[in-house]
Amino acid sequence: GIKLAGRVDRIKPSLTLAITAKAKAMKAEGIDVCSFSAGEPDFDTPTHVKAAAQRALDEGKTKYGPAAGEPTLRAALARKLERDNGLTYAPENIIVTNGGKHSLFELIQVLIEPGDEVIIPSPYWLSYPEMVALAGGKSVFVPTSAETGYKIVPEQLHAAITPNTKLFVLNSPSNPTGAVYAPDEIRALAAEVLKHNILVVSDEIYEKILYDNAKHFSIAAVSPELQARTIISNGFAKSHAMTGWRVGYIAAPVEIVKAMATVQGHSTSNVCTFAQFGAIAALESSQDCVSEMLNAFAVRRRAILKHLDAIPPLGCPRPDGAFYVFVDISHTGYTSLDFCKELLEKHRVAAIPGSAFGNDSCIRLSYATDLASVEEGMMRLAKFVEKIT
Ligand code: PLP
Repeated sequence: GIKLAGRVDRIKPSLTLAITAKAKAMKAEGIDVCSFSAGEPDFDTPTHVKAAAQRALDEGKTKYGPAAGEPTLRAALARKLERDNGLTYAPENIIVTNGGKHSLFELIQVLIEPGDEVIIPSPYWLSYPEMVALAGGKSVFVPTSAETGYKIVPEQLHAAITPNTKLFVLNSPSNPTGAVYAPDEIRALAAEVLKHNILVVSDEIYEKILYDNAKHFSIAAVSPELQARTIISNGFAKSHAMTGWRVGYIAAPVEIVKAMATVQGHSTSNVCTFAQFGAIAALESSQDCVSEMLNAFAVRRRAILKHLDAIPPLGCPRPDGAFYVFVDISHTGYTSLDFCKELLEKHRVAAIPGSAFGNDSCIRLSYATDLASVEEGMMRLAKFVEKIT
């Protein structure tokens, strides 16, 4: 056989993708699966964004560009950060990447080496620990529970910090729990970050997906001292239904952006040129499309929460953001994987086991799917739970 590099053994394939693939295969066989597994908006990319990319193609924006991104996009992103987040960044503080995932991957590559610890609140987005493992670093998980709305408290952050701590990963709104940290909660965590002189990466990819009166507050906005220790990671996938476009970005101190640009210059080079022109249109034109999608998510969220309230054995704090609910199934006695397997095979409902996100007591349901599927899928879930409890 072929001897692969040792680093490959340190990571594992995505369980999310495996379940999603199985649900798709069942659908292809003609089975009527209700899928709560997708981590992407089901809407098409807004027309004016597609038109801008088409125009860019026609205008010959089909060549290599600067590795760190189109200057006009970096400038537009600086304006976005000022406008939406009250943060001042120069274009030099910003790098355009192949999606939020690659932003984080490159960031970990330029920051983390063997011996470094990365604090990750759990449940977590499943790629964080794999990225840390590939860089040879050590993930330090801080478990959270429904009692705190799956949010880490400052005492927990304090207790997790060691002399080897390099980076703290904050993801608000969160995948998989939908939790949103309030400004005061962010400030309290920021105090620990400053006191211990560590760095924080703020994954803000779900920034625009908020319900009721929830507000997004970037930890970088706490103070200039905090901004100097913060790396903001964001992208267009969730806000503008642009998952396949692969455009993300990082805003950070210049040393970090320069290092990432060097890595990018030797790996992917620039992000697809005409896709970047679509991203400029997404930023610079009306944001009505964002609120329209949000309104649709809000209707589905209400529906899914109403159904969950009617299934007492399942517990779930009301999430304020993203398009996920993280449902406690521990009263059923099932592991999250067995629960999801039986739910899919016998009741034709796809959900992601919490074990994928570091919590075996829960499952993740995504409501980035049409309302009819939400209603039907929740009815099937209720039947399954009634049968097994
Ligand atoms: N961060 C979180 C928490 C996510 O859920 C995702 C996508 O699922 C990403 C980052 C990366 O998104 P993309 O690479 O599509 O921009």
